[in-house]
Amino acid sequence: MSVAISIENVVKRFGKETVINGLSLEIKPGEFFTLLGPSGCGKTTLLRMIIGFNSIEGGQIKIDGKVINNIPTNKRNMGMVFQNYAIFPHMSVKDNIAFGLKNRKVPKAEIEKRVDEILKIVKIDHLKDRMPHKMSGGQQQRIALARAIVIHPEVLLMDEPLSNLDAKLRTEMRNAIKQIQQQVGITTVYVTHDQEEALAVSDRIAVMNGGVIQQIDTPKNIYQRPANTFVSTFIGLSNIMDGKLESNENGKALIRIGDYKFQMNNIKKDCGSNCPVKVSVRPEEFIINKETEEGIPVTVKSSVFLGVTTHYFVETKEGQEIEVIQSSDIGEIIPNGKKVHLKVQVQKINVFSEDGSRSFI
Ligand code: ATP
Repeated sequence: MSVAISIENVVKRFGKETVINGLSLEIKPGEFFTLLGPSGCGKTTLLRMIIGFNSIEGGQIKIDGKVINNIPTNKRNMGMVFQNYAIFPHMSVKDNIAFGLKNRKVPKAEIEKRVDEILKIVKIDHLKDRMPHKMSGGQQQRIALARAIVIHPEVLLMDEPLSNLDAKLRTEMRNAIKQIQQQVGITTVYVTHDQEEALAVSDRIAVMNGGVIQQIDTPKNIYQRPANTFVSTFIGLSNIMDGKLESNENGKALIRIGDYKFQMNNIKKDCGSNCPVKVSVRPEEFIINKETEEGIPVTVKSSVFLGVTTHYFVETKEGQEIEVIQSSDIGEIIPNGKKVHLKVQVQKINVFSEDGSRSFI
């Protein structure tokens, strides 16, 4: 049975420095939940509080409703996978995996059964007797994952488990981790600063900055409807443009960027007539219009051909720079200096308060 994790108003201090000040979140049973944010935002600190390596200075952490603040790590029934694998170099693969079970005094026959089972799940059963130094980074990370899961923990914690792998192996291993987590169905908390990795593996993501949660949502919602400009720029590329909310009456908002006006009907907030807002559009959502005058008028400043896509850097009349990503199939590369217009479907636009701190949608 999978467990729920409730983090309620937790506070973490190191000496006089408060790193986390009243953070709350709920992780559902069996969920793959990711803490995502820039270096130093407190992700690892929070993960270490869940497993018990860090003390909790305020608030509480509950597993299925039971407070665990004062339960020592070895009584918490959690498995953890670290960035540097932390496997024992002098033990074979099967001995590494059996280690936690021996410590828990599991009978020998049961240990053998469970080690064989988990070796198949992580797909290294053919390497059972090998020593870790004769294995690749990806294979070593599979041992670490097997060792964490074989004890049948209630919670699996992973701290940047793929950071030491090269790009190709990282993609392969993230798919493997996701698949294994689904197969085992264990509540998982995953820490990464890699936004693509977070989008790929998670059921839900908490985006953190400076010890504060910015948004908790599914990967799709985080990408398409970011809660503020921090999330919008941290995850994927975003053009954040200065605009004006001219009016918002009867559910129809009129927004202006320079001389270009467009109407949106999903603007829920108001900031008085003609108030400044930030308008955000992802580079791939723009369509370059070379034929008519429809859209935001811009001049192409430079372009970079990247095979599948071509990136254009364009500038509005007001001097605002915008990045546009187009499929390279679409005609010839547009020369620098060419005046074009940028179109975008209004549903793809996000509007934020002038300081970027909240979405108007
Ligand atoms: P990274 O991706 O770089 O690991 P992170 O988001 O996991 O970053 P944390 O390691 O949780 O960040 O650190 C959050 C803050 O807490 C940082 O300012 C860090 O300097 C501080 N910190 C972490 N551990 C300690 C410690 N043991 N003593 C003092 N300060 C610490």
